[in-house]
Amino acid sequence: QQRTVLISGCSSGIGLELALQLAHDPRQRYQVVATMRDLGKKEPLEAAAGEALGKTLSVVQLDVCNDESVTDCLSHIEGGQVDVLVNNAGVGLVGPLEGLSLATMQSVFNTNFFGAVRLVKAVLPGMKRRRQGHIVVVSSVMGLQGVMFNDVYAASKFALEGFFESLAIQLRQFNIFISMVEPGPVTTDFEGKLLAQVSKAEFPDTDPDTLGYFRDLYLPASRELFRSVGQSPRDVAQVIAKVIGTTRPPLRRQTNTRYLPLTALKAMDPSGSLYVKTAHRLLFRWPHLLNLGLRCLACGCLPTRVWPRQTEQN
Ligand code: NAD
Repeated sequence: QQRTVLISGCSSGIGLELALQLAHDPRQRYQVVATMRDLGKKEPLEAAAGEALGKTLSVVQLDVCNDESVTDCLSHIEGGQVDVLVNNAGVGLVGPLEGLSLATMQSVFNTNFFGAVRLVKAVLPGMKRRRQGHIVVVSSVMGLQGVMFNDVYAASKFALEGFFESLAIQLRQFNIFISMVEPGPVTTDFEGKLLAQVSKAEFPDTDPDTLGYFRDLYLPASRELFRSVGQSPRDVAQVIAKVIGTTRPPLRRQTNTRYLPLTALKAMDPSGSLYVKTAHRLLFRWPHLLNLGLRCLACGCLPTRVWPRQTEQN
């Protein structure tokens, strides 16, 4: 029997790729409701869907920040029954805190966090009644670890992680699974939109040192990371499709093995210093070696003396 999968944010990137992969599932296990805020952007998805369009894939309007839009969207689905919800829609925000308005920060939370909460509230009663369901969240490695100048974006993903981990405990009683997928950098419009935003932004009230760290240290390092270890949206969508296809889905799934050691540092040192010091060293001492640093952390080949010791005092 086919499962109905509702995905948010399908006009581009990971959402678009995932919608296509599930709609083209060789076993036709899914009825994909690919949603997007602006239907004017449906052309690339529809063109790539080919014969799946109208069969295993339909495109429906959905703004995750709008209650009415959520109700309208569900009214397009038979019985409003969503078996798998994929919270993918999200926006980024980078820059020095001093130069960002609270309204801008709140809008990130409105999309990334409350957008997912709004959808969950809409589909959860049905899932509970049926004692069946799967809620997938496109989180980020930044849902597990803080990253410099991504304070608010990381906070929005941490919020998701806390919310869904809490919910997962209760939902075991209802046979409903939660899965948080945590990609590292992915080469989608996401980065381009961020860089465009940054090039226009003035970051008022920011001291020259901070602005220098942002523009001359963080931005080039970030570009280099996307270039060197960035995954394609297709690869990330493949991981999500696999998570959706398993009978006992995991609560967390990282998509990029390069990030596993960095995220493991937090678990290794409960004081939290090891991760913060390592991230600081990587950025401030060897920004041009970030990619190599990640690789060497992964294989353990870097001499341990260059990494902060776990026992080191703050
Ligand atoms: P993307 O910009 O191509 O996709 C994001 C989608 O969300 C867009 O289609 C956008 O229109 C949509 N969206 C934004 N606000 C919306 C709203 N209010 N209602 C409905 N849709 C809305 O970028 P992507 O990389 O495919 O991002 C998808 C998810 O992956 C996001 O949650 C993002 O945080 C996460 N992620 C991305 C990266 C990365 O490096 N690209 C890394 C980790 C996690």
